[in-house]
Amino acid sequence: MTDQEGDLYTPLSNDFVVPTNTDIGATSRQDGESKCTYLCGNSLGLLSKTSSAHIQQELNAWGTRAVTGHFSHPQNNPWVSCTDPVNKLFGEIVGANEIEVACMGTLTNNLHLMMDSFYKPTSTRYKILCEAKAFPSDQYAFQSRAVAHGLDPAEAILEVSPRPGEYTLREEDIINTIEREGDSIALVLFSGVQYYTGQYFPMQAVTKKAHEKGCICGWDLAHAIGNVPLALHDWNVDFAVWCTYKYVNSGPGGIAGLFVHEKWHGTMQPKSAGWWGHELSSRFAMPPKFSPTKGAQGFQQSNPSVFAVASLRGSLEVFKAAGMMGPIRSRSMKLTAALEGLLKRSNYFVALDKIDQHGSKPGFTVLTPSRPEQRGAQLSLLFLPLQSETMRKVFAYLSQNGVIGDEREPDVIRLAPAPLYNTLGDCEHAAEVLEKALATAA
Ligand SMILES: *Cc1c(COP(=O)(O)O)cnc(C)c1O
Repeated sequence: MTDQEGDLYTPLSNDFVVPTNTDIGATSRQDGESKCTYLCGNSLGLLSKTSSAHIQQELNAWGTRAVTGHFSHPQNNPWVSCTDPVNKLFGEIVGANEIEVACMGTLTNNLHLMMDSFYKPTSTRYKILCEAKAFPSDQYAFQSRAVAHGLDPAEAILEVSPRPGEYTLREEDIINTIEREGDSIALVLFSGVQYYTGQYFPMQAVTKKAHEKGCICGWDLAHAIGNVPLALHDWNVDFAVWCTYKYVNSGPGGIAGLFVHEKWHGTMQPKSAGWWGHELSSRFAMPPKFSPTKGAQGFQQSNPSVFAVASLRGSLEVFKAAGMMGPIRSRSMKLTAALEGLLKRSNYFVALDKIDQHGSKPGFTVLTPSRPEQRGAQLSLLFLPLQSETMRKVFAYLSQNGVIGDEREPDVIRLAPAPLYNTLGDCEHAAEVLEKALATAA
């Protein structure tokens, strides 16, 4: 098979540095020098050689040009405009115009900045609608924004929960909640892909429904960007925020991004202004009065970390070289379906609707929706019996044997075949080691 997504047994990109078993601490492996099976790109993506080269270039630029590098740069990438190439690629990967995106800050900071402008509670319309068990940082952000407006978070934050016995949300439950409560909701804010379950929410339908009821609709794309195709402009999303160190592979603590739809550019002004949001033509003349750059980049506050931008630029160039999200998503769906198929053939697999009848033997199920269009790359494995030692034992075994996923206490391990660097071989190996891990736990 040599279509656009490549042979599933060879990586789509050979640009990545995969840690060896020895380096990652897989102490039970004899073949310490071979590459580990890294299925943790949902948490921290791998280093690419392109990122590494861009960072090295900026170190050289700093060493040779010092302050003049802001305007005069050996690779003609002056620091004053170093985010330009990133914004162009951001536009492609999230489906936005360049003027609608900004490369800046961190996800949680950007979430606060966006809520600062877009969350304007009134006495009748003041609620924030989100998914139950949102990522903690998002929960803290929602709570603290509510408190900042003098509201009680218990009243202001409305959560959509899975039905009893279910783990993921039904589209109709989200839509019906918006229909029922919409008049009191100021802001609908879900994650595009849920970090714990891997569920890919129906972003377009939710956005449309939110607008029908007069709500603002924003998205946290931490687990969606670089994982699933996005069309933020066409879906009429009001705003979005994301980090770049998960599927986008920009490196630990990498610089983040935000989106503000063009329709807001005339009216939605930054509330927490900084000099980097001031229009470029007079930024360095440093006038006393703030005049924002048109579009999302008016929300910038500080001059960005050039090294973080360089790394991100490199990692986005790898996406570009792979043909962006069309071929990447297509390969991703095949890899994740293959991993799911392998897991379902395990002697320890238990169907989700049978876990109540499961006894005291070690086993596992998959929480992530089984329909490929309702998930990204990640599968979340729930280990049984619940609240037992199974997950911890299995996780330790996997790690010692070079299969790197991540654990969520008490019972979940997330495995994500990242379409750029993972292969079908990785999925097969992970399934084999998991089988041994469960046999050992039993
Ligand atoms: C990873 C993640 C974060 C992390 O926030 P930072 O500000 O980048 O530390 C926040 N929210 C969600 C939903 C995430 O998945």
